[in-house]
Amino acid sequence: MRTTFIPFSKPSISEEEIQAVGEVLRSGWITTGPNCAKFEDAMSAYVGCPASVALSSATAGMHCVLKALGIGPGDEVITASLTWVSTVNMIVLAGATPVFADVDRDTLMITPESVRAVVTPKTKLIIPVHYAGAPADLDGICAVAKEAGARVIQDAAHAVGTFYKGRHVGRTGTSIFSFHPIKNITTVEGGMFCSDDAELVSHVKMLKFHGLGVDAFDRKQQGRSPQAQTLIPGYKYNMTDVSAVLGWRQLARVDGFNARRRELAALYHDKLAGVEGILPLKSPAYEHVHAWHLFIVRVDQDITGIKRDDFMNELKQRNIGTGLHFRAAHLQKYYKDSMGTDYGMLPNTEWNSDRICSLPLFPDMTDGDVTDVVDAIKDVLAKAK
Ligand SMILES: *Cc1c(COP(=O)(O)O)cnc(C)c1O
Repeated sequence: MRTTFIPFSKPSISEEEIQAVGEVLRSGWITTGPNCAKFEDAMSAYVGCPASVALSSATAGMHCVLKALGIGPGDEVITASLTWVSTVNMIVLAGATPVFADVDRDTLMITPESVRAVVTPKTKLIIPVHYAGAPADLDGICAVAKEAGARVIQDAAHAVGTFYKGRHVGRTGTSIFSFHPIKNITTVEGGMFCSDDAELVSHVKMLKFHGLGVDAFDRKQQGRSPQAQTLIPGYKYNMTDVSAVLGWRQLARVDGFNARRRELAALYHDKLAGVEGILPLKSPAYEHVHAWHLFIVRVDQDITGIKRDDFMNELKQRNIGTGLHFRAAHLQKYYKDSMGTDYGMLPNTEWNSDRICSLPLFPDMTDGDVTDVVDAIKDVLAKAK
């Protein structure tokens, strides 16, 4: 058994990055400034989109977009229940109604068919999630949106390095990336809004900083613009330069990170192939590049004789950390109480919500770590029989 704990996720921060953060702290300009501008430009170049806006989180980006699109009471927003609950919370806080499309049982993503099944005349927006690093079926979902007269905003929190049919996610349309510490690159906390809609970009730029026409940092003048006026009431969601310097440095390393994630995922697939009742997700059938944000398995109790929660607990006792991405929103207390949702609504979502478990996956893991995780799984299953 392992003597040291292996977490399910761990950021890779280099000594150079730590030093660069120190330099920003010593520079005299620590909030939104030249490093944010550099990170935004680097992100636009990497994704291949015309504009990027650095934010304090992806959740902040979702808040700004919903506001900019005027989503509110009487509007329906279609998304997955099997997602990070921040999206659903933001829809509700905007006064709109979340409508849940079921996910594919083996990719955990909403499909053109499942979206079409819940479209109504009130549908204003569809938010697919590029799950675990694989892309959602954008062509099909955008076609359904077009028929419905609705917009699409992509939740790309897991998708730095994800390609859909030869294009990086976010190259077209509007996407929101996250740099929370468990994501493929990190700025400690942070997010990036990427869009080819110039009007939406300028609206989100204003909303992220008090509704002013400019940032605190004037890109040309190195200093504040005290004369700037509020054009619309806005929020306070700007990224700091302390975060942004990590951002552009991490982005320069992401292809290496993801290559290692891909190797580790392949190793897991290999070693888990003969383990009954532990079912990895399947990759989508269309052409894509997977960013391997998460390695998710489903624990099938009928075969293993052990419940997911007990399985996670047993692994923890063997020094193996796991995660749960995600518990279905419609099964959580607030949503059950306020929307009257429960089991029986979304069969694939519910089946997975009760069985999914994220195994350790991060670039600094060794092949031996994967062996340790799989050996611990085999030991748990042997004792459960
Ligand atoms: C992490 C995550 C978010 C939120 O990102 P933050 O930067 O933490 O606000 C949104 N959606 C999904 C699917 C996520 O995993």
